[in-house]
Amino acid sequence: LEEEMVRFDRLNMVGEMAAGISHEVRNPMTTVRGFLQMLQGKDDCSRYKDYFTLMIQELDRANSIITEFLSIGRNTPSNLEKQNINFIVNSLKPLLQADAFGQGKYVQVETNKVPDLLLDSKEIRQIILNLCRNGLEAMTSGGRLIIRTYLENRKVVLTVQDEGEGIRSEVMEKLGTPFFTTKANGTGLGLSICYSIAARHNAVISIDTSANGTTFYVKFNCN
Ligand code: ADP
Ligand code: MG
Repeated sequence: LEEEMVRFDRLNMVGEMAAGISHEVRNPMTTVRGFLQMLQGKDDCSRYKDYFTLMIQELDRANSIITEFLSIGRNTPSNLEKQNINFIVNSLKPLLQADAFGQGKYVQVETNKVPDLLLDSKEIRQIILNLCRNGLEAMTSGGRLIIRTYLENRKVVLTVQDEGEGIRSEVMEKLGTPFFTTKANGTGLGLSICYSIAARHNAVISIDTSANGTTFYVKFNCN
C-alpha cells in the first residue's frame, strides 16, 4: 500500500508540471514544423528532402510524447459511465490480434460474466492497450498473450498475461516512474498512464512475474 502511495504522489507532481509546460512547448514546435514544411517544398532545398522528412517526423514524435504525458496529469475521470468491461475488451480484440499477427504471437481473450462498472471507456481502452503492447513487446520470440476478466471477492479483475522473460527486480522497483524504459525506442510512459488511470477509477494494479512471463492485474471495486 505504501508503495502505491509513493507512485501516486510521484504522478500528481509530474502531472501538474506536464499540464503547465506542454502548452508553452507546443507553440514553438508548431512554428518550427511550419517552416520545415515550407522549406521542404522549395526547389533549392530538394537535396535535403530526406532530412526535412526526418525532422518533421521527430517533431511529431515529440508531440505525441506530450499528448501521452498530458493524459497522466488529469485527476478526475472525464467520462464515467456505467458499462461492462467485457464490451471494451472484446472491441479491442481485432486491433490486438492485428498487432500480434505475423510475429508468431497470438492474442486470446477470455471474458467471464462481470457486473457493470463506472468506467471511462477511452481510459480503459488505453490501460488495456498499454498493458497488451508491453506484453507483446516482452515476448521477443513469440508466444501467447491472454486477456481475462472475472469476478473475485466482489471485485472485477482484468488480467493481461504474457509469456515474456519476466521483469527483473531492478526494473520492478522503477515501474510507474514516468520516462523509465528499458527499450531503445520506448517512451516509458505506458505504465505511468496505466497507474494514473487506475487511480482515477479506484482500481489497483498488481504484478506477478517470473522467468516464464508476467501477469498484470487490474482490480476494480463493484459499485
Ligand atoms: P515502454 O513500454 O515505452 O518502455 P512502459 O511504461 O510501458 O514504457 O514500460 C516501462 C518498462 O517496464 C518497459 O520498458 C519494460 O522494461 C517494463 N515492462 C513493462 N511491462 C512489461 C512486461 N509485460 N514484461 C516485461 N517487462 C515489462
Ligand atoms: Mg509500454
